Amino acid sequence: MTRRVVVVGGGISGLVALREIRKNSPETEATLLESSPRLGGKILTTQFLGKPVDEGADAFINRVPWGLELCKELGLDNLLVSPTSSEAYVLTDNGLKRLPKGLVLGVPTRFLPLVRSRIVSPWAALRAGFDRYLPDDWPGDDESIGGLIRRRMGDQIAERLVDPLIGSINAGNTDHLDAAMVAPQLETAARRNRSLIMGLREHKQNNHNDDEPVFVGFREGMQQLTEGLVRSLAGSDIRTGASVHAIELGQSGLRVFGDTKSTEADAVILTAPAHQAAEILQTSSQASERLSSIEHASVVLVTMGFKRSDVGNPLNGSGMLIPRNSGFLTTAVSWGSSKWRHWDDGEHVILRVSAGRAGDTRALALDDNELVEALLTEVAQILKIEGNLVEWRVSRWIDAFPQYAPGHDRLVAAIERDLRTAIPGVYIAGAGYRGLGIPACINQGKLAAKSALDYLGTL
Ligand SMILES: Cc1cc2nc3c(=O)[nH]c(=O)nc-3n(C[C@H](O)[C@H](O)[C@H](O)COP(=O)(O)OP(=O)(O)OC[C@H]3O[C@@H](n4cnc5c(N)ncnc54)[C@H](O)[C@@H]3O)c2cc1C
Repeated sequence: MTRRVVVVGGGISGLVALREIRKNSPETEATLLESSPRLGGKILTTQFLGKPVDEGADAFINRVPWGLELCKELGLDNLLVSPTSSEAYVLTDNGLKRLPKGLVLGVPTRFLPLVRSRIVSPWAALRAGFDRYLPDDWPGDDESIGGLIRRRMGDQIAERLVDPLIGSINAGNTDHLDAAMVAPQLETAARRNRSLIMGLREHKQNNHNDDEPVFVGFREGMQQLTEGLVRSLAGSDIRTGASVHAIELGQSGLRVFGDTKSTEADAVILTAPAHQAAEILQTSSQASERLSSIEHASVVLVTMGFKRSDVGNPLNGSGMLIPRNSGFLTTAVSWGSSKWRHWDDGEHVILRVSAGRAGDTRALALDDNELVEALLTEVAQILKIEGNLVEWRVSRWIDAFPQYAPGHDRLVAAIERDLRTAIPGVYIAGAGYRGLGIPACINQGKLAAKSALDYLGTL
């Protein structure tokens, strides 16, 4: 008997899930339903100053295998490029300061570079060093990143280094983000060792090959990845403009309800963002309630182009971070044309300016013109820019960043349990659950496909 799997959502997680089903069980009928007219979800590359410039993700981390593995499978690994510079800056009361050498996710592991950076006071640098001598004070599971860093290294390290870095990647406040889920490297080092610094150093010695770039991107933009995936799915039943409103358990299995019709399924892989999954699963009230408890933050990303001669700062690095308590609307600026050689035409500078994060919705209240003006004023002051914008565009990413609160892993496990009981055959995957970076989404897409196929085997 032919079985049918429906994948909901055509972002990276859904596309990978569909590919896994097609690859490992060609006899299973598989359909992907995507509500928007395009595939790729939060991965979007468009032209800016004549170059393919990402509106969302522009790189993925290479320290976990799933991204690179998929690129190899798709024959795309020869298109990967790495940033020209990994140096970044943070804004302090005394202007931009280069991040010191020896940082791991914002955590300093070397004393002298930290002191010389002048990002924190000498006393705060000394306080950070106490980590090596303080007794083990691990409080158990469900600690926030802020809690971990503040207890081992003090408030300034948490607020001027770790929060600007990890907070801007997640559009969150590290005092409210689960350490084990969002920064597992830090949490593991702190849990397994008395000292965080020693744990991170040990991990680095055992795991890192310094010759390999930490991040990679695509010459023609991150969309090369989703386009490659879609090419590999030629002949598959992929429907865009097909919004799913509900999934229900009926007499003869699952039923997936769309705008005008419903589709029968034996298993469903649901990769829509958690707040949308909550709506779709409303008839499974417990799971839906838990899904809607996952908060989301919005980010606005303004891409700005200037004449190179108008920018006073030499932009030697990949970008700059702005600490939360600075009062600025801007949270981070990626110096795109310095970070990526292929964005640099020699005449212009491309900046990607971010605003908005958990607890800061000021940017959302502004219309495009107001927003660009406000961000331009800040960025021009910091980077000594004098001329006008040559080109700009605004990308609004509403509710795009799930916030993994302490205990998020147990919440996701509970949602999965609810689904097994209330609506067996439905699996969740994607940014809302076990990592929002592209490699983590790829891994979740694969695992959900495996679970769905295993489940079909039991019917
Ligand atoms: C501005 C920005 C910058 C980022 N930078 C990076 C980065 O540099 N590196 C990195 O690794 N990650 C980055 N990320 C995160 C990463 O891009 C995302 O977490 C990841 O792409 C999410 O993939 P997904 O498939 O889980 O979800 P999505 O891409 O959100 O896909 C879900 C899909 O489901 C569809 N959908 C929703 N509701 C329904 C419905 N009812 N019916 C049918 N379809 C539906 C949506 O239209 C969407 O296409 C960034 C994200 C953003 C927003």
